[in-house]
Amino acid sequence: MSRFWTDKIASLDPYVPGEQPQDKKYIKLNTNESPYAPSPKALVAMQEQVSERLRLYPDPNCVTLKTALAKSYQLNTDQVFVGNGSDEVLALAFMGYFAGGKPLAFADITYSFYKVYAGLYSIEPKLIPLDDDFNIVPTDYENLDVSGVVVTNPNAPTGKALPLSDIEAILNANPDVVVLVDEAYVDFGAQSAVTLVNQYPNLLVVQTLSKSRALAGIRVGYALGHSDLIEGLERLKNSFNSYPIDRIALAGATAAVEDETYLKEICDKTIATREQSVKELEALGFSVLPSATNFVFATHPKKNAEQIYLALKEQGILVRFFGSNKPRIGNYLRITIGTDAEMAALATALKALLS
Ligand SMILES: *Cc1c(COP(=O)(O)O)cnc(C)c1O
Repeated sequence: MSRFWTDKIASLDPYVPGEQPQDKKYIKLNTNESPYAPSPKALVAMQEQVSERLRLYPDPNCVTLKTALAKSYQLNTDQVFVGNGSDEVLALAFMGYFAGGKPLAFADITYSFYKVYAGLYSIEPKLIPLDDDFNIVPTDYENLDVSGVVVTNPNAPTGKALPLSDIEAILNANPDVVVLVDEAYVDFGAQSAVTLVNQYPNLLVVQTLSKSRALAGIRVGYALGHSDLIEGLERLKNSFNSYPIDRIALAGATAAVEDETYLKEICDKTIATREQSVKELEALGFSVLPSATNFVFATHPKKNAEQIYLALKEQGILVRFFGSNKPRIGNYLRITIGTDAEMAALATALKALLS
């Protein structure tokens, strides 16, 4: 607290990211990073940028990256916006499209950053409860008097995916506001709403290179939508920071997006490991929600989640525990899917712990 703080700063309730401990080497299954290296082509492209050219500003329009993304999703480049991680894209979208005075609809259990952005821009959240099985119920998104809707598909931290027809129902029920679909995990097994972009001028699809493309370290995310929605984001971005994507990130992200073979290879590996891990966790008595992501959300009927979290940490394995005070999810753990070896180490530790 400082006497120089504005009331705004004092009122904020900032996002708390998962631990990134620097003290020792953990098996990190707590922040949904990829256990695999980024595309080798992306690494080479980034290394090439470490040169005298770094004295120059990067391309403020990120043309190479937008072209690669447009090609990959069969859109025009003016339907693509890129930012410093999808968190930045979300922050700009909230400021631009949801701060109009009415509440913003999103699920009661979802990515916790949405509430933080809402606080930052003085947007009132209109929380729509997931059903008892942690499903988003599309009919709950009808007749809302809101500034916009955010749907996370697949949802986090539950891991559950909605079919495209449900996303379409939400879009049809909310034609006069922007419906933002956060698809941070879509490459791990859900249907993307990108195919609906040309049909729905109110649809903004947000994705990231941090999870499926194993590039959390370079901070690149993007939005896909109608060119008018994208132009709005560009106006905001260019009123704040013209160069959020540096030369190294731009080169790496472009090469990573172009390397679709590698993307598929590491996603397939993660999906296979996930299916194996679910079997092992269930054999240990966990109940695991069906996951279309690179993590699983699990609870044990006999052993307290916080105790499991602490005991695993003691043994050098980090998973995400959101706090025992959290309604409905206070006894759940979110476990990122690591390599087969990391998941085997987890299973061994859990077996010892539960016996
Ligand atoms: C990880 C995550 C993000 C943020 O990703 P970055 O691109 O790394 O900022 C956004 N939304 C959801 C649901 C996420 O899980």
